[in-house]
Parts: sequence; structure tokens; C-alpha cells
Amino acid sequence: MYNRTPTFSPTVREAILLRDNFVCVYCGEPAWQVDHVIPRSAGGPTRKFNGVACCKRCNSQKAARIEVPFLEMAIIHLSQCGEDTTWLDTFRGNAQDE
Ligand SMILES: [Zn+2]
Repeated sequence: MYNRTPTFSPTVREAILLRDNFVCVYCGEPAWQVDHVIPRSAGGPTRKFNGVACCKRCNSQKAARIEVPFLEMAIIHLSQCGEDTTWLDTFRGNAQDE
């Protein structure tokens, strides 16, 4: 059955939250949500290297957009965690500068 709001599988979600110590990568507050760095609607995969721990506030603020400050923070964080971020370079040109 096709899920209109695809999310990370419980396994991947847990792995991301543990990797990020349940801390929002955008503001440093406690986080229990996982954010797609590149939204599904923009072609972002539901994989560990496209997910970061994110608090409710930042998640709702960011919504389904790609904005430079969020994207850059996520890229720095993911590369520090040893995740592959080279695929994200192609999205940098499409990001909204705000
Ligand atoms: Zn936050």
C-alpha cells in the first residue's frame, strides 16, 4: 500500500536518533523527530544519510522546503558523523536562500 506521507522505518529512525544523541541538529534542543534533509517531495531518499534528529519546532519551521541555512547545517553534521554527503551537493543549487 502506498503511503502518502513516507517516513523512515522504525529501525532507520532509531539509528538516526541514536547517532544524533536525540539532539536537534538545527538548534541543539532535545529531539524525538527525524527530519528529511532533502524532503521526499524533492526526491530525498528515506535513508540514514538523509535524516537528522530534529525537534518539533524546527521540523515545523522547516516544513518541506530546502533552505540554505538548514541544508548547510545538516551537511556539516552528517559529514561529521561520517555519512555520505556528496549526493547533497546537487541540491545546493536548488536551495532557497533566505
Ligand atoms: Zn530544533
